[in-house]
Order: sequence, then C-alpha cells, then structure tokens
Amino acid sequence: MQKKDVEILIVGAGIIGTAIGAELSRRGAKVCIIDRGTVGRGCSYGNAGWMTPCFAMPLPMPGMLLKSMKWLLDPEGPLYIKPSLSVNLAHWMWAFMKAMNETQARKAVEALVVLSQKSLTEYEKLGQKYPALNFEQKGLMMVSRTQPGVDAAVAELNYVKNLGVPGKVLNGDDIAAMEPALKGPLLGGVYFSNEAMAEPFQVVQALANEIRAYGGEIIENCELQDIVISGNKVESVLTSQGEFKPQQLVMATGSWSKDLARLMRLRVPILGGKGYAMIVPPLEKQPQYPIMLVEKKIAITPRQGSLRIAGTLELVDQDFTITQRRVESIKKGAREFLHLPQDLEIQELWAGLRPCTPDGVPLVGYHKNISNLMLAVGHQMLGLQSGAGTGLLVADLIEGKTPFVDLKVLDANRF
Ligand SMILES: Cc1cc2nc3c(=O)[nH]c(=O)nc-3n(C[C@H](O)[C@H](O)[C@H](O)COP(=O)(O)OP(=O)(O)OC[C@H]3O[C@@H](n4cnc5c(N)ncnc54)[C@H](O)[C@@H]3O)c2cc1C
Repeated sequence: MQKKDVEILIVGAGIIGTAIGAELSRRGAKVCIIDRGTVGRGCSYGNAGWMTPCFAMPLPMPGMLLKSMKWLLDPEGPLYIKPSLSVNLAHWMWAFMKAMNETQARKAVEALVVLSQKSLTEYEKLGQKYPALNFEQKGLMMVSRTQPGVDAAVAELNYVKNLGVPGKVLNGDDIAAMEPALKGPLLGGVYFSNEAMAEPFQVVQALANEIRAYGGEIIENCELQDIVISGNKVESVLTSQGEFKPQQLVMATGSWSKDLARLMRLRVPILGGKGYAMIVPPLEKQPQYPIMLVEKKIAITPRQGSLRIAGTLELVDQDFTITQRRVESIKKGAREFLHLPQDLEIQELWAGLRPCTPDGVPLVGYHKNISNLMLAVGHQMLGLQSGAGTGLLVADLIEGKTPFVDLKVLDANRF
C-alpha cells in the first residue's frame, strides 16, 4: 500500500483533536485527522456540556486526601477506585498524592482558567455560526444542603475570582428564588454568571465541519496501530487504512493515550475516570440553569426537551462496562434535589472515560525526545471547557509562537 504524505496528522477526533484540527485548518495548515471510530464518539460524546472556567481545579487539590480516601472506599461515592493490585494504578495513586500541594494547585488553576476562558470565547463564536450547538450562557449554580458543601463552593469561588471568573455567594432563599425546580430547603451555594453550556457532540461535529470546510481531511474507522521512530523523529504511522508519513504528529487520543504512548516507549500515565450520563424526559419542574450538586458531584444540565444527569468518577483502565449500582447512586443523588418521577424513564445511558493524569493537568506540547511529536492529552474533567483553548495553544506552538499560558504547568515531558 502506498504511503500517504501529510503535513500534520492528528490522531483522535474527540473535542481535543477536532479543536486542534479546526484551528490549524483555519490558519492554512494541511491537516489530516484519523479516528479508530467515528467523529466525537469517545469521551466527548455525552459529557455534561459545561463550558465553565469556574471548574478549573485539578483533581488532586490540597486537602483532598482525607476526603478522597473516604470516597474511594465507598462504591456509591462520587469518586471510586476498585481495589486492585495494578502497577499502573499504584504509580498513578502515588503521583496523585504527591501533586496535592498548594503551589502546584495554584499554578494549575491559573493555567486551566486561561485555557477555559479562551475556549469560552471561541465557543461563543462557534455557537453563533452553528445554532445546533445550543450554546447558552446562563451561568451555573453550585448548590448544597450542608455547611461543608457550601464551604466547598465558596472555596471554589475564592480560588477563581481573582483570575477573572465572576461569581456570587447564594443563601437558601436566593437559590429558591432563582431555581424553583430544586427541592428545598437548601443552605446555600454560589452562582457563576459567565458559564455556558452546549451540546457536546454537536460541538465536535461543528469543529469537524470547520476542518472539512477549510480543506482538511477526516478519516474515520482508521486505527493507529504502530509508530515508526527514526532518530529523534516520527518517521511513519501505521494504521488499519495504510501508512502515513507525517511531518508532524499530534496525539489527541484521550484515555487511550497510555497504551499508544507505549508504542513509542513513552510514559503517559493516563487512567480513565469513568463517568455516566443519562438523558431523561423533561421534568414537570424542569431546571433552568446547569446545576452542580456539590456533595453528590452530580451535574444537571437542562436541554431542549430533556434533561442530562451526569456524575461519578471511577478510576479504571479502559473499562467501559456500566455498573448499575453507580447509575442508581446518581439517580438517588439527583432525586434528593429534583422532582424526579418514581418511574424515571432513561432515554439514553452513556459511559465515558475522562482521560485523567495523576496531577489533574493535561499534557500539551512537543516531546523532548521526538521532535515532531506533539501531545495534547489528559484533559480529565474539563476537555470540553478547555478544548478550543487547547486548539489555539497547539496551533501557536506548531507555528512557533510564544504560548499564551504557562507551558511548564502543562509540560508534556513531566512524567
Ligand atoms: C460523565 C462525564 C461528564 C463530563 N462533563 C464535562 C463537562 O461538562 N465539561 C467538560 O469540559 N468536560 C466534561 N467531561 C470530560 C470530557 O468529556 C473529556 O475531558 C473530553 O471529552 C476528552 O476529550 P478527548 O478529545 O481528549 O478524548 P475523546 O473524546 O475520548 O477522544 C479521543 C479519540 O481518540 C480516538 N482514538 C483512540 N485510540 C485511537 C487509535 N489507536 N487510532 C485512532 N484513533 C484513536 C478515539 O476513538 C476517540 O475518538 C465529562 C466527562 C464525563 C465522562
């Protein structure tokens, strides 16, 4: 089979790969993007659709240790790790615990807020061009019934408000007035006024459309199988649809990245953070705002004609099975705050693997040993909200421009 010469080959057509592809295509680069499946059917398919710079906290925040240990042992808790003797998991957990320090967390939040705010501006423009996105900038509510929950929401606000993310503290009466769909009484929370939401699958489709419109190519059902390195460069990429010879290779392969990086003898410690989302018919008392139920870590997203309820994070290694017990715990948690009918109809149930690095920060940039290899992986809980910004950043790096964010935080070589 003939080798296909390409200027920039992107592997992975999720939000990260398509955002990078769209931006590079707009800037005139010749882009080819391949995916083992079809566009946007990985973790980017059914997420909560939140574009929320307020949620820029990496998973291993200081003070999380005790809380996470308590959750980890509870199969119905919002964060769960099935006890196992896996070496991958042990390494990951060790790095996770080491990352729980204030200096590292502050720098991470700063970088992630910048990426998320850049993304929000881009999505607003995309939403105007593609109405199917249902882009809406209504803000977002974090609500709680307990004092620790309210404190956590206020701590979140305090972390991000100096970085230009506006929000205001709410008491129970404020919440009842703003969002009558919530079951009272609530103690309080925070309202972040600039946050937005959209249909995640439609966002990826719109970006794919941009790639094609600017002359780029997307090849579906094309699986990367091996990578040939010669000296310090990627020489060629072997796929289920033949061999590619890229000048530059961009890996945007989400939770699959750990195993693919091994093909190049690289260590990319990404585990899947499995989460579920269910689409249910609109409630009689349908929420108006996206809502984070703080203690439950459940995300409620009102949609046109339905409601999305998403939650839980279960650390796994490429395991897409649905654990009914965890689905039930999401329903139970949501029912405590919303008027869900007893015989709740689930129109669609989906599980996705968030690509989680141990320090909760993506890996973005060129690899130090392979000069034409760019990594853009590990966007954990915020791949949508930081996706378009990652596209701008990667395009800048490929063009040799100074990055607009502290690249040390995102260092692709740090593990
Ligand atoms: C329940 C849930 C709710 C979430 N809510 C939000 C939210 O509200 N806001 C937010 O910002 N984030 C949210 N996230 C996180 C977000 O969905 C992810 O961070 C994001 O989708 C990751 O995007 P990605 O492009 O890196 O990965 P993916 O979308 O998984 O894309 C990776 C692609 O690589 C392809 N691929 C893998 N291996 C190969 C190969 N060998 N050859 C070719 N192609 C390959 C896959 O087919 C896939 O299409 C949520 C996640 C979950 C699970």
